[in-house]
Amino acid sequence: MLTTQPLLQVERLVKHFPVSGGVVKAVDEVSLTLHPGATFGLVGESGCGKTTVGRTILRLIEPSSGRIIFQGRDLLALKPAALRQVRRDMQIVFQDPYASLNPRLRIGDAIAEPLIIHNIGTPRSRRERVAELLRIVGLDPDYATRYPHEFSGGQRQRVGIARALALEPPFIVADEPVSALDVSVQAQIINLLADLREQFRLTYLFISHGLAVVEHFCTEIGVMYLGKLVEVAPTSQLFTQPRHPYTQALLESIPVPDPTCRKGHAPLAGDLPSPLSPPSGCGFHPRCPIAVAECRHCAPPLRDSGDGHQVACWLAR
Ligand code: SF4
Repeated sequence: MLTTQPLLQVERLVKHFPVSGGVVKAVDEVSLTLHPGATFGLVGESGCGKTTVGRTILRLIEPSSGRIIFQGRDLLALKPAALRQVRRDMQIVFQDPYASLNPRLRIGDAIAEPLIIHNIGTPRSRRERVAELLRIVGLDPDYATRYPHEFSGGQRQRVGIARALALEPPFIVADEPVSALDVSVQAQIINLLADLREQFRLTYLFISHGLAVVEHFCTEIGVMYLGKLVEVAPTSQLFTQPRHPYTQALLESIPVPDPTCRKGHAPLAGDLPSPLSPPSGCGFHPRCPIAVAECRHCAPPLRDSGDGHQVACWLAR
């Protein structure tokens, strides 16, 4: 059950990266609200800015402008000591669990590391906590003495999740947590994340490059294109009544057992334009099958289109 008090509010978040020859607008005025217990799926092609949004919320990357309100506190106004405390409540699960684990560190030590950094517990209580966390993510507590290379990809991601849970955070950014895994293992990790959400009342920002992964897991979805949110809607609405041509094209690309069940939207054509020189007007216009002249000159704002649905398209109803 969602409560009315948001856990996280992101307001007009902007992140620009200066590069030789210009500026990349990786995140361009992104706003979103997450209530406790929600799972917000942030979806889009590689390079659309979704990972930068997640890392900027955690302040692993400093934003160029905007506001990030977490548990009622403005993160960008916090002094370093206060920010350190808040960081306990915001953790991340990375895409590549092998790259995010130190190969020379036993996984028990890797899971205990956040507890040590925050000076929590004694060596004995930390060992007990590591054993508990390994059990929670479905691994044998005896594995604590093993090294990352001794595990499969799915097991390593379970270790990454155990590490993220160590400080009992209410909020986790899951940054493409299954995209590096075999399809057969992806469902197991999604099911684990769903179980943990119920067990610990977690709130997730779940970043994914595909819509198929998020359909049964997320309560709400935001679709990003060239640094902007172009559609935000409750999951069931987004899948049954997509209003932005980009979302419609993404849905069209999901494999289905019966192709006659397709909705008949145009599939995605062409490549994502370079964020260094984005198209004028609506950034999607070079790939949009229904673009009109106005689309080349004026960028449509993200507007409320009813039923909790927001869309940035001049022609969407
Ligand atoms: Fe297509 Fe125009 Fe809508 Fe952009 S504003 S998605 S180009 S119809």
